[in-house]
Amino acid sequence: MAEESFLGSREDHEDIEDIEGLDDVDYAVRLENVSRIYKIGKREIHALNDITLDIRPGEFIVVSGHSGSGKSTLLNLIGCIDYATSGRVRVMDVPIEDYDESFRATFRLTNTGFIFQSYNLISTLTALENVMFPMQLSDKTESELEADAFELLTKVGLEERADHLPWQLSSGEQQRVAIARAMANHPSIILADEPTANLDEESAEMVRTLLLEFKEAGKTLIIMTHDLEIINLPNTRHMKMSKGVLIGND
Ligand code: ADP
Ligand code: MG
Repeated sequence: MAEESFLGSREDHEDIEDIEGLDDVDYAVRLENVSRIYKIGKREIHALNDITLDIRPGEFIVVSGHSGSGKSTLLNLIGCIDYATSGRVRVMDVPIEDYDESFRATFRLTNTGFIFQSYNLISTLTALENVMFPMQLSDKTESELEADAFELLTKVGLEERADHLPWQLSSGEQQRVAIARAMANHPSIILADEPTANLDEESAEMVRTLLLEFKEAGKTLIIMTHDLEIINLPNTRHMKMSKGVLIGND
């Protein structure tokens, strides 16, 4: 019997894991001399400056840093949402920038789960439908997908909110739906951009507990945050971002 975790057993998801051959991965993330320059008219904004970083599978990475220091930009590169201006970005040993948008979209859905500061739920979809939304690549039937999504909502304690629209949920509940959605395809990397910044303390604590469950399930976590409760967690690798440079990534 495979290990039980937040995600259910690994055996249940063999199909997805086999596609990417996740068990053979050396690095969850590998950045080599990565820079990202935004151009606005004649102005250049150096959001990331020559970042080199290796993250092993299963590491729990916490990055803090002032607003505007480049945290979201870094997550967006790792999450295949944006491209580096120069340097190499590898995720699960795959040089993702060498591929077209269609591959990158599939790769993103399969390998990474994104949790945002402001939840980013689709306002016209129920909690259950939001969780089902990233499952579009699955060849399961609609009712199987519904059952999977309901199970994920149950794991975050929201089985009684499945039919609610985002505006009918509290901030903390919306973030828990977003966490269930991030798990929809059982990705091995979780990317979280200030996941507790907009939450009351009780909801923030629930989110921290869920993040720790991911860690125990062997996921790689990369969390951008100012939350001292996350920064001070044991067994994490903490780095600081300042003006597009990562400090302490040794
Ligand atoms: P953080 O998440 O640490 O607050 P960001 O990664 O959002 O920082 O931003 C880093 C820098 O890049 C900031 O100076 C920001 O204004 C700039 N920036 C971010 N996104 C864009 C964009 N799409 N176009 C132009 N500049 C941007
Ligand atoms: Mg940000």
